[in-house]
Amino acid sequence: MIRKILKFGFSTTTLNQEPKHRFSLFKLIAGAAIGVYGFDQGRKYREYLSNIFLSKEQLNDLALKNMIKSKDSQLIAHPINSVNNIKNKEKVVVVGGGIIGISQALKLLRMGYNVTVIEQANTVASECSAFNGNVFNPMYFLPLVTRDNLIYMIKNIFEKPELTTVRFNMNAFLEDNFIQWGINSLLLSMTDNAQIENSRKQLRIGSLTLQDIEKLKPTGLFKGHLIAKGQLGFFASDQKVNAYKDRLELLGIPHIKVESFEQIEQFTKTDLKTEPNLKLFNRFKKALILTTESNLETRDLTQSMLKYCQENFPNQFAIAFQTSAQNFVLDPDKNVKGIQTNKGIVLGDRFVICLAHKSKQLAQKLRLNLPIVPAKGWAMGRTAPENFNQTLVKEFTLNTPNYFATNLNGHLRLAGCAEVCNDTPSSDASSEWGAIQILNRFNEQNGFNFKMNDFTVRSCFRPLTPDDVAIISEVPGFKNVFINAGHGSRGMSYCFGAADIMSQVMEGSKEFEDYSVKRYYFI
Ligand SMILES: Cc1cc2nc3c(=O)[nH]c(=O)nc-3n(C[C@H](O)[C@H](O)[C@H](O)COP(=O)(O)OP(=O)(O)OC[C@H]3O[C@@H](n4cnc5c(N)ncnc54)[C@H](O)[C@@H]3O)c2cc1C
Repeated sequence: MIRKILKFGFSTTTLNQEPKHRFSLFKLIAGAAIGVYGFDQGRKYREYLSNIFLSKEQLNDLALKNMIKSKDSQLIAHPINSVNNIKNKEKVVVVGGGIIGISQALKLLRMGYNVTVIEQANTVASECSAFNGNVFNPMYFLPLVTRDNLIYMIKNIFEKPELTTVRFNMNAFLEDNFIQWGINSLLLSMTDNAQIENSRKQLRIGSLTLQDIEKLKPTGLFKGHLIAKGQLGFFASDQKVNAYKDRLELLGIPHIKVESFEQIEQFTKTDLKTEPNLKLFNRFKKALILTTESNLETRDLTQSMLKYCQENFPNQFAIAFQTSAQNFVLDPDKNVKGIQTNKGIVLGDRFVICLAHKSKQLAQKLRLNLPIVPAKGWAMGRTAPENFNQTLVKEFTLNTPNYFATNLNGHLRLAGCAEVCNDTPSSDASSEWGAIQILNRFNEQNGFNFKMNDFTVRSCFRPLTPDDVAIISEVPGFKNVFINAGHGSRGMSYCFGAADIMSQVMEGSKEFEDYSVKRYYFI
């Protein structure tokens, strides 16, 4: 292969071209590639060196005395180190207290680990998990990154944005690892087969085992756990439909089985017959549709899980608020032993990074370019209008993001639109494209005349991977550091399934390569 490339680059006779031009073009491309590679390696190395490297004695001292003198400064241990640890049990540090971090903590506690969570805010679920659509449907798939969507997104930079619910913002180019995300999206999400494969992978994250549901049910976490009316799950065989029916029955979630596209359309009152939808339906053929009319608040669920962890595992669980992870602490064998935070070092045996798209800042410290970009979405709330006593799923399509209007105990929540962009918080979310789109569509479709200032409006960032499949993986080269991030539009729906897969990856299962970060190129 290398010989072929060189032959192409240096040959002067095979094509009828000016030899000098071909040679210099080749040199230019090769030079640029080597330059980019070199720059990237240099950056990775610099990031890696910004970690803290301690000797075994220093680490021991830190654990015993809570303080040491390092090369150029004094290092302190975080006070959380001495809280709630059962001796002889491994300690896992979960970084990030969103829905993903707290569900991961719950799973690990139930497996017998000591768990410490680090959260930068003073409450759990302070970012994306606080401002979403509150729709829980683990078996629902809708990859945001598909060929059609990528083409729409690019077209919509130039065409009328009011005709779409999905677009690129050019400031995405300022986002770290956006180029890696883009290249990987083109390589992994541009064919029909890729869309089907990515849907299958999403579906598997949603699939909870019957045993897991049996174990989770007594926790009361699923109580009142209902699902948006009209949500669809697709399956390729009767066996799979039935397996899912068993789970829904165990959870007490009403549903019906549908056999044709027409039946689905009747239910959603939307025209679904686009070419990609038909292809998908022909591949999966069997569908379940959910018929309940209420939902669960993502933040409430996160808080109930936290309470459950605190009450049921008082000697195994601790959480440090207002603690922001910055760097890793490594021993001379390059094993990660702790995390440096603004309040001192948190020591641990294993580490799980659950920081949504911000996971890449920590991953970079371990020489990994994590391809997760923020896809901004808008969430708007107000008291539900009278007689508005239902959950609506409008504009239901299988290949473009839509918006949801849900009624949560009298509170109306509109959420949706996606803008791949960079991570700059909105100064005024209510004046932005996504919020205007959602409000206009909601008014048009329901005959209301609400104004923007009738709502509280927030925006937040979905953590989006190049194939819209979460990364549930070991960090290559660091056997005790893991990532559970990038759940896109389904963080709540997939939190239990993702925590389960992560725990198996941590225990050494090789079964989950579909979710490994190694599936990406140029990381
Ligand atoms: C408009 C919209 C609608 C959505 N609707 C739904 C829906 O209906 N159903 C559904 O299932 N999903 C939905 N989602 C997706 C879902 O919200 C996300 O996938 C999920 O919240 C991601 O959870 P997380 O725990 O990974 O991230 P986050 O909730 O963002 O949590 C990350 C946590 O890490 C903390 N943190 C960040 N940096 C640091 C640091 N350096 N040190 C320590 N802590 C740190 C943050 O404070 C935060 O608490 C929606 C998303 C959007 C934008």
